[in-house]
Amino acid sequence: VLQVKDVTYSYGDTQALKGVNLTLNPNTITALIGPSGSGKSTLATLIARFDDPQNGSISLGGVDLRNISSQTLYDKIAFVLQDPMLINASIQRNISLARQDATIDEIRKAAKIAQIDDLIMSLPKGYDSVLGTDCSLSGGESQRVSIARAVLADAPILIMDEATAFADAENEHLIQKALDELLRGKTVLMIAHRLSTVVHADQICVLERGTIVERGTHNELLKLDGVYAHMFHEYQNSISWRIGGK
Ligand code: ADP
Repeated sequence: VLQVKDVTYSYGDTQALKGVNLTLNPNTITALIGPSGSGKSTLATLIARFDDPQNGSISLGGVDLRNISSQTLYDKIAFVLQDPMLINASIQRNISLARQDATIDEIRKAAKIAQIDDLIMSLPKGYDSVLGTDCSLSGGESQRVSIARAVLADAPILIMDEATAFADAENEHLIQKALDELLRGKTVLMIAHRLSTVVHADQICVLERGTIVERGTHNELLKLDGVYAHMFHEYQNSISWRIGGK
């Protein structure tokens, strides 16, 4: 169980999260929604431990993330977020960051699932190409490298920004297939942008100005007739579902 307890986080004077509580139960999908600037990315990055909360705690199996080594943490938590966290090293090393013992066959298999193997193989140095030196990848390609990394890590917990995963519109259908595979049997926190993800989530959390204002399943939140129900009805009256869009 991953537990977020009373978490507060500020960027300088800007308070991004105020006393957030959230539990991710094993094998469930939690959809995080809310307007731009409500704190969704901040919450996701704290769980991926890009930084620590100023107040409160985030724990995994009862142990504070601050007391878990980075290798253990990356065995347990994989992420596909706005910042693909690529390093100035070979593509092979970038994909195997969380699984340093992986063989090239395993790395290629993950890259194939993430729809990036063909592109890598077309580079003169293939998987040995050093990012930033031998090649530079587009935003969508970088995201697919980070998806390959998450596929290879095969961590039980996955923190993902759906918009980031679909940065590359051209490959939307293929990325959807990769994600379906990636999500199977995992504990997922998804910054959700697609209606189907939200409606089918085990738990929907609506963030507003750094606070979770509603949580429950789609049906529970419709019954509540609050913020979520309002957003959903607006969606039904429009052609696109755009919540939390940047
Ligand atoms: P969301 O993902 O819901 O759009 P964010 O977590 O990105 O929300 O942002 C929450 C708040 O924190 C916003 O007010 C935003 O302007 C601020 N913020 C986010 N990132 C930074 C940053 N790197 N520096 C300063 N303020 C930031």
